[in-house]
Formats: sequence, C-alpha cells, structure tokens
Amino acid sequence: MTTTVIDPRSVWDAALGELQLRVTRANYETWLKHTVGVSLRDGEFVIGAPNAFVLEALEQRMFSLISETIEHVLNEPVNVSFRVSMSSGGSSVAEDRVPAPPTPARDAAPASTEPAQFEWPPYTRLIKLNARYTFDRFVVGRSNELAHAAAEAVAAKPGSTYNPLVMYSGVGLGKTHLLHAIGHRAVAMGLSVIYATNEKFTNDYIKAIREGTTEEFRDHYRNADMLLLDDIQFLIGKEQTQEGFFHTFNALHMANRQIVVTSDRPVSALRLLEDRIQSRLTGGLVVDMQPPAIETRLAILKVKAEQAGHDVPESVLELLAERVYDNVRELEGSLNRVIALAHATDSPIDVDLVTRAIDDMVDSLTTREAPPDLVLDTVAAHFGMGIDALAGRKRDKKTALARHVAMYLLREDAKLRLTAIGRVLGGKDHTTVGHGCDRIAVQLGVDSALRRQVANIREALAAS
Ligand code: ADP
Ligand code: MG
Repeated sequence: MTTTVIDPRSVWDAALGELQLRVTRANYETWLKHTVGVSLRDGEFVIGAPNAFVLEALEQRMFSLISETIEHVLNEPVNVSFRVSMSSGGSSVAEDRVPAPPTPARDAAPASTEPAQFEWPPYTRLIKLNARYTFDRFVVGRSNELAHAAAEAVAAKPGSTYNPLVMYSGVGLGKTHLLHAIGHRAVAMGLSVIYATNEKFTNDYIKAIREGTTEEFRDHYRNADMLLLDDIQFLIGKEQTQEGFFHTFNALHMANRQIVVTSDRPVSALRLLEDRIQSRLTGGLVVDMQPPAIETRLAILKVKAEQAGHDVPESVLELLAERVYDNVRELEGSLNRVIALAHATDSPIDVDLVTRAIDDMVDSLTTREAPPDLVLDTVAAHFGMGIDALAGRKRDKKTALARHVAMYLLREDAKLRLTAIGRVLGGKDHTTVGHGCDRIAVQLGVDSALRRQVANIREALAAS
C-alpha cells in the first residue's frame, strides 16, 4: 500500500493564502506572515511561530480560524498546535524570508489593526425590500403556483407552517420577488425582518470575525423574527460563513422564527454545502419554480405593461411572450425595450416596432455570451495546449486544470448547459462537467493566482 505524503509546508502555504483573504492585512503581516507548516502526522498539524509572543497570539485569537482553514485545505479534521520554530527558514509565502520577529507593542491586543481599518459600519436594521415585489404583482401560473402558495402560507403564519421554506429555480423566475413579498407582509404585521443576500451575510460575518464582534453579529441576525436569505448558492465553498449560517439558522429555528431561503439550484445540487446544512434546509419545505408557460408569460407582460402605465396592444404582448421564454427578467426587459424604443423614435407600439426592438435585443444577447469555440481556443492558448488536449483524456495536473477552467467558462460565459459542455469536450458526462465547474468556482474563492489566470483569459476573450 502506498501512503500519500502531504507536505505540511505546502498545506500551510495554501492555508495562508486563504487566511490572507480573511484577516486584515495588518493582522496577517503581524501574526501570520512569518509562520511555517512544521509537520503533519496522525491528524496533528504543527505550525511554527517565530517567537513566543506570536505563538500566544495565534493560540488565543486565531486558533479556530486557523484550524478551520487547515481543515478546509486538507478536507479532513486536524488538531492544530503551535510551537516556536523558525528553523525551516520561512514559508514560501513570506517572500522576504526575513525571520525578523514582528515587534508590536507588548500591550497591543493581538487582533487589533490600525484604526482606519476599524471603520466598518455597525449592523443596521434597515431592510431594503423592493416596493414592486409584492404578492399582488406576482402572476401565478402552473409553473410557480406551489412556490406562491407556500410563500403565502409562510407570510400568513410565520414560523408555524413551513420552516424553513426553500425556493429554487433558474435565474429570473421570481424567487427574489416572492421573498420580498413575504417580507412586505411580515413588516406590515410589525415583525422585524432581516433580508440579506448571501453576499451581505458573508461580508457581515467575515467582518465580525475580523473585528471580534461575532456576538453583535449573532445578536443582529438572531433577534430577527424573520430571516430572508437570498441566493444561498453563494455559500458554496465558504466554509466559515456556512458555520455562521448554521448557528444562526439553529438559533432562529429553535425559537420558531421563520427562515426563507432561495437558491438557483436544487438543494441536492448544493453538494458543496456541508451535509448538516443541506439536511437543515430540507427539513422544512422545498419548492421549485419552472419557466412560465406562454399564457403566464402573457399575463406577466400585461401586469408589467400596466405598471409601466402603457397601453400595449395584445398582439405586441403576444409576440413578446412567444419570443422570450425561459427567463421572466428577460421577458420584462424585452417589454421595457419596446417601450423605450417607442419613446425614443416617437412611434406607436406596434408589431413592426417589436420586430425592430427584438432584433436589437437578439444582437445584444448574442454578443453578451461568449461563443463556445472562442472560449475553447482562448483557454487552450492560455495554457499553451491544443483544443484536442482539452477534449482528450489526459489527466496530468496542467491539462486537468485547463479542462476545468474551460468547463467553468463554457458554463459561466458561454452559458452552455452541462450536457452541451460535455459534448464539446469530447463526450464527457454532465456530472463530471458539473464537478469540474464547481471545483473552479470554489478554487476562485481562495486562489488569487487562479483568479488572475481566469481574468486574463476573460480579457483575451473580450478582446477577440
Ligand atoms: P430570481 O430571483 O428568480 O432570479 P426575480 O425574482 O428577480 O428572479 O425576478 C426577475 C423579474 O421577473 C422581476 O422583475 C420579477 O418581478 C419578475 N417576475 C418573475 N416572476 C414573476 C411573476 N410570476 N409575476 C410577475 N413578475 C415576475
Ligand atoms: Mg434573485
């Protein structure tokens, strides 16, 4: 049997890369920069600190952050311990390799930073709900009636019907709209509602950790009567924020406070979320929404036209409803475009105008998405290999990375479906493609070198 030898130094370097994103620059420079990965044996990870002072600070203030980060890198639990050691000559992240111990004033609190970096705004109770996203402006059809009914039920009796309620659908199909609609009702009932996109939740949480104000963070989120969390898929790959979410979730759930979450993919496909979060999410009710059928699209267009204060002929609405079919946001956009064009050219809203407006729109849609061939060419060129290598079976590190980046960009920028990507890449299975895409998505969160590479490729794509 062969055993894999994992080099503690490279593990720690990877962890440092991640930590660099999570702590302030000052904290990083003072406490982490001159540390090294000393050994990894039997689940024990030893980190070397340049002196006892740093050691103590790491132990007391960053222990769980460090443990978590290493576990994230290794993908398994470890016991972390520290010892004074610079014998290994400095980590490769600390390029200057000068083991000069940092010399902060002895009385400085270890996690402190320059005052300028402390200017985070306090958590606010402000909720920002879009006034147009109400129940009476939501058109119900076969594709969304279940989600709509569940949302109504939850709004009528928060905390006592379905908890949590999870709504998922592809983009632009009304998740955020329903989430806000629930929020409006709850506010009208005098409940305190927190609406957060997961981006905001993550930022708040990371700030709180950085600041040592996790108590305030908890209080803020846990005192809500209702927590509306939009786009939970953004938690993928953010283990630490998942932890924060998990605890917030439990506290609210135990107190029978309503939690509503949206996701742009089914919960079962959020496979990079921790199991315990997945099982919490499926513990209430999960409903999905599909693209609306033509009669619902037509009804939506009528509502939107009325809201915009325009009398749009039925024939025009029908034409639009036929042309744009799998995204309500784009459907709405097509109507707005027609109205704008009518204003701009001072012409009546008729079928002729629609044809012009739509032709424009089709152009802009196609230029917005990168052509798949171009993505393949550009990725291959960037990695100095042929397209055949991307579509081939070779699995060395470089080829695998290039292939995964290609998958990712074909999904994100060329908007291909997983099965289509598999086909383009020499007949690969859609789950393989899904894994490849997710791998890059996660890695982009922690690997700045990869971020740069992907940015370069995108620049090259935009230039051609
Ligand atoms: P998602 O959050 O699923 O990406 P949104 O809730 O942002 O989608 O919806 C996109 C746009 O489409 C919004 O302007 C929303 O009002 C509108 N929309 C979606 N579904 C409906 C519907 N059933 N009735 C009315 N408007 C809708
Ligand atoms: Mg949304």
